[in-house]
Amino acid sequence: MSRLSTAAPPALGRRLTIPYLAQERSPGVRACGAACLAMAYAALGRPEPAAEIWERIAAPDRRGRRFARTVQLARDAIRCGWSATILRPEDPFAALTGALEQGACVLANHRLSPGSPWGHFSVAIECRAGDIWLHDPLRGASLRQTTIAFDRCWAPLAEPGETIGHVLLAITPPEPGGLSDVCETCRQPIPLALVQQLRGLADGILFCPHCDTGWRLSPSA
Ligand SMILES: [Zn+2]
Repeated sequence: MSRLSTAAPPALGRRLTIPYLAQERSPGVRACGAACLAMAYAALGRPEPAAEIWERIAAPDRRGRRFARTVQLARDAIRCGWSATILRPEDPFAALTGALEQGACVLANHRLSPGSPWGHFSVAIECRAGDIWLHDPLRGASLRQTTIAFDRCWAPLAEPGETIGHVLLAITPPEPGGLSDVCETCRQPIPLALVQQLRGLADGILFCPHCDTGWRLSPSA
C-alpha cells in the first residue's frame, strides 16, 4: 500500500448522532449486520429499511442460517454511495475512537458473548476513559461497558470462529478525489481517506472492502 502523508487534512465529517434500531428476530435469521447498516445509513442522512438491506447482504452460515460477513456490509455501503474502510488495527480502541472523532459510523464485528463461535455486529457510539458505548441491535441502545469487558467479545481467539477479532468497519461519506489505492487482487479502489486521517492509529491490517484481501499498513513514521 502507499505510504501515507503524515499531514492529515481536516476531519471527514462531524461526529454523528446515531439512532438505535433493533434487529429483526426470526428463526434462521441473524440480521444484526442489516440493523447496524440501517443505523449507519440513517445517521449519515439517507435511511434505508433494514429489511431491504438484509435481502442484499444475507448469506448462509455454517448451520444454514442466514447472516452477513463484514465485507458484505462494506460492499453494501459502497453500493449505497458511502465509503467503507475495514480495519484490524493493532490498537483497536484507539482506532475506533479516532474514527468516531472523524465523523465515521463505526461497526464492530465481535462475538455474541465471550467464547461464542458466533459473530455479531454492534455500532460503537462512544469510547472514552476505559468505557465503550454500543448500540447492540440484539440487546439495546447505548449500552455501556468497560473496554476490558467488551474486549472479551472482540479480541482474537486461538479458535477464531466466525470473527477473527478486532475488526471494525468504518462508514463515511465518500471523499471525491480523496486518497485511494488499487487493490492488487480485484483491481478496485480502496479508499484511504480515513486511514490517512487516523495516521498511526490505523496501523495493522486494512482489508479490501470489495474482495476482503488483507494489506498490512506499515507503521507510521
Ligand atoms: Zn480487492
